Amino acid sequence: MTRKEYLIKQKDEKGRKLFGIFPAQYPREILWAMNVVPVEIWDPPLKVSHANAHVQPYICSVVKLGLELILQGKCDDLDGFLFPHTCDSIQNLASIVYNYLGLEKPCYFFYHPKAPYRDSSRLYYLEQLKVLVSRMEKQLGPLDLSVLKQCIERGQQVASVLRDLYGLRARGELKASNSEFYQVIRQGEYFHPDDFLPLLEEFLAASKGQADSGPSVILSGILPNPMGILTFLDNLGIRVAYDDFMIGSRRLLIPPSDLPDPFEQLTESYFRMPPCTTRASPIAQRRDYLFNMIDDATGVKGVIFYMVKFCEPEWFDIPNLVDELKTREIPALVLEIELNQEFSGQVATRLEAFMEMIGI
Ligand code: SF4
Repeated sequence: MTRKEYLIKQKDEKGRKLFGIFPAQYPREILWAMNVVPVEIWDPPLKVSHANAHVQPYICSVVKLGLELILQGKCDDLDGFLFPHTCDSIQNLASIVYNYLGLEKPCYFFYHPKAPYRDSSRLYYLEQLKVLVSRMEKQLGPLDLSVLKQCIERGQQVASVLRDLYGLRARGELKASNSEFYQVIRQGEYFHPDDFLPLLEEFLAASKGQADSGPSVILSGILPNPMGILTFLDNLGIRVAYDDFMIGSRRLLIPPSDLPDPFEQLTESYFRMPPCTTRASPIAQRRDYLFNMIDDATGVKGVIFYMVKFCEPEWFDIPNLVDELKTREIPALVLEIELNQEFSGQVATRLEAFMEMIGI
């Protein structure tokens, strides 16, 4: 079933609303509890034609493709949009869509706090959750707190299976290829958790087992697009042991919280998420997160930063992270890519040279 077919079914058969969600972090449990399926918009497979007239040429392709999706009329089935306060580029996109495109769809904004965090940041986040709920209630009706608690539990079950998958993969105990792994976990970007959880459990059961005992690398960046990098590594027998992707571990491996109040639970989880540039996490935290991955995983030979072109938040950290890796003599390769482009020969050559350098 295609993504579109799945979503139409959610709407027609389950009576759920569909919201287009721009990257990256948002309280998905609140949307589930309000009978909304969050449909994340990261890298729709489109050729950019209309969006160039609205944005500067040096904006990232996540924003360009998201805007293109709207301009091509491919969001007509959606019942609203949510723009988290991820970066300046998403803020600009939110402003274009909300103020200038004249779409007759509700737009919501979610302003999560950036580091450094203080006690007031927690209060602010809690307040933002409630503000979002009160705005959405006008469109969707009242939020039932007992349903929200159930949805948080569902989210924790999903995160728990994902942690198992990441743990097995890091130890070389997952047979799935790199491409299969990301094809499965990325379905969580639009699947309802009632469908995503069994899918993950099935994948976990089918994939447990010794991986080929080849070397491994860690991938960092926003997302694995072009997918060519995954097939390239698969063909060389190189395992991705762990990722520091924004669509991956940075958002998915959320530690559980058992606080009694659901809003407090969501708040605690937010502040315990792995470090991320879009939350202005200090470089030392990102460095330690990478070092922990390297120490926990087996056979890691190097780190590949698979960077989306013009992604400012990520580029601020890269030189420092590469220097930090050098202090431990861990080789790093930085690749800059445009989404949905061919996996170029130039990228393949640089990867081959890197592999040779690290002795693969
Ligand atoms: S975080 Fe980077 S890739 Fe994502 S929307 Fe912002 S600039 Fe684009």
